[in-house]
Amino acid sequence: MKQHSRLSKNTTSIFCQSILLLFLASCGSDKPIYSEFTFNGATMGTSYHVVLAGGPLDIQMRSIISSRVDSFLISYNHTLSTYDDQSEITRFNRNQTIDPIPASEELLHVVRTSLEFCERSGGAFDITVMPIVNFFGFGFEPGESRFPTVDEIDAWLQLTGCDRLALDDSTITKSDPRVSIDLSAIAKGDAADHVALFLTEMGFENIFAEIGGEIRTLGVNKFGKPWKIGIDRPTFGGAPGADLQHVIALSNMAVASSGDYRNYREVEGKRISHTIDPRTGSPIDHNLAAVSVITSNCLIADGLSTSTMVLGAEVGLKWLEDYPNAEGLLITREEDGSFKEYMTSGFKQYLAD
Ligand code: FAD
Repeated sequence: MKQHSRLSKNTTSIFCQSILLLFLASCGSDKPIYSEFTFNGATMGTSYHVVLAGGPLDIQMRSIISSRVDSFLISYNHTLSTYDDQSEITRFNRNQTIDPIPASEELLHVVRTSLEFCERSGGAFDITVMPIVNFFGFGFEPGESRFPTVDEIDAWLQLTGCDRLALDDSTITKSDPRVSIDLSAIAKGDAADHVALFLTEMGFENIFAEIGGEIRTLGVNKFGKPWKIGIDRPTFGGAPGADLQHVIALSNMAVASSGDYRNYREVEGKRISHTIDPRTGSPIDHNLAAVSVITSNCLIADGLSTSTMVLGAEVGLKWLEDYPNAEGLLITREEDGSFKEYMTSGFKQYLAD
């Protein structure tokens, strides 16, 4: 494991990253060469933030673009949100059958990619964790304020695993009618890719698309430079953007982050993370506090960041090092409260601080 000398900084939610992006842009010493159009909104229980750099856009065009992105996100939620009572994924989860269930192309695409991650990561990434996520209160149900019994964990393990789902070109089949899936670890990244693609199809070349901390970039910012993005230090209770581990600069790349310091609960006096180790049926319990993964596609970056979080620092670093065209920054929380950071061999090329 390569350890870099610089002491820690962090991980992140994208919202903080988007704030940093604007700050850096407005503080740059260069003169802008493009106009910039920025719009934000709420989606997926979090926020989204889009920046377009290019020629000036009139008010009507701005309104068309932002309302189309918003409509796309509403429709995306209606397919893949487990928080939407009527969505396709909710209907899939409630469907108590082992017959093939017809699925949309979008659901098939994300589930297929998830199963590939499941296989490659030895089950560390596993979308069948839904019942465990719900028990601990990180899903669409409020959750219990106790730890599960051994029998409960055993029962979950009967319903989780890469082999609980089978796909063909148009259907998904459960091995047990009670199997249910959770795409929260990967779908925000997929949606960021879709937003960027959609804007490309509208003729834009310079795009920053962020959803809940997962970011896809294309081209350059208004200064004609790669998009600058802040990565937070993984401090419990730290405000997004207040304390940065690093600033990275990306063009035509995506970054996704996972961490233990924003989405957690206290159960019986112990802090538990929303990241579940599907192999044990329990929340992760190691010192990896945060990971950010850069690759060309946000769907893949998102899946890689959660899998790395499950695998822990040592195995996770090797997992990222071996994964084609992916680079990662991992931050561990040490016993004395300090942080240490680890990078894959190519991560440094993206540092801008
Ligand atoms: P990540 O590390 O990217 O993902 C962690 C999440 O993945 C966990 O919370 C869990 O759900 C799941 N997970 C845990 N362990 C594993 C594992 N080993 N393998 C695979 N998955 C795992 N939240 C709301 O509160 N309200 C909403 O209305 C809402 N709507 C959403 C709609 C969509 C389409 C999506 C994708 C998510 C939605 N969410 C909603 C969820 C919210 O955005 C999540 O908190 C978020 O997706 C978790 O992402 P993260 O980046 O914090 O963590």
